[in-house]
Amino acid sequence: MVTTVLTGPLTLGVLLAEARQRLAGAGVANAAQEAGWLLEKGLGCRSHHLMTQSDREISIEQRASVRSLVERRARREPLQYILGTQEFCGLEFAVGPSVLIPRPETELLVREVVRQTGAHHASMLVDVGTGSGCLAVTLATTLRGSKVLAIDRSADALQVAKQNAATHGVLEGIEWLHGDLLAPLAGRGLEERVDVIVSNPPYIAERDLPGLQPEVQMFEPHMALVSGPLGTEFHRRLLQDAPAFLVPGGRLMMEIGQGQAAAVRALAQDIGGYAPVVLVEDAAGIERVVIAQKVG
Ligand code: GLN
Repeated sequence: MVTTVLTGPLTLGVLLAEARQRLAGAGVANAAQEAGWLLEKGLGCRSHHLMTQSDREISIEQRASVRSLVERRARREPLQYILGTQEFCGLEFAVGPSVLIPRPETELLVREVVRQTGAHHASMLVDVGTGSGCLAVTLATTLRGSKVLAIDRSADALQVAKQNAATHGVLEGIEWLHGDLLAPLAGRGLEERVDVIVSNPPYIAERDLPGLQPEVQMFEPHMALVSGPLGTEFHRRLLQDAPAFLVPGGRLMMEIGQGQAAAVRALAQDIGGYAPVVLVEDAAGIERVVIAQKVG
């Protein structure tokens, strides 16, 4: 019980035990490790101090700052929003409540884009729904000669993405456009100029939202998660709108949710103008990336 660890002087070790108990009691699966990370954040200490300095006395202010972080996590706010960061493709990305937290499976999309465009030094790439900027920034850092445009309909998300681009030295190399899907490309002379349109669009069907983890459902932006009744609404719109901007042979490369491959393949066939789509599986064997190449 919490009361047993609260007796005696307040030390680092006691605070750690208290945090662990609070998180475990709130249903946080990885309570021990997360308690450690939150203490490191709240106290500004290193992980080894948690072990080597467990008898160190903690001030009232330090305890208050750690407790406020632990309480946020106990209310199931994602750890990444509390720590303010998530790693993606080996780079640190600042994250906050206006952007989706980058997921490991989305790294597959980067790998596939690099595989497709690696040979073309001066490709033109568009990232639709850039969010934290994880795709645009990793692509700009990896494919140095390419022109990257990043679009989002959330001005707040664009601010976060620009911050991340600045951190990784590619702010000037990316053009930032505010608007819905491909609409901001219009009137820029980009018709039939884009080599790759990449997107990890919202793909949760409305009815599936209540079944998601509390962290996702209650804290991540619904605008970045939910597409509509089907889950594939944004894939359909991108398949419809992309050919106008793609060069002949250019590719629309999108992340899809588990079980959406057949529906997205059928959409590409119905809409037309594409070669048969290619599907790429993630590490868990789930079809995760769909590649639709414009016939040319
Ligand atoms: N492109 C960002 C990512 O892949 C944001 C995606 C989104 O908000 N749906 O994480």
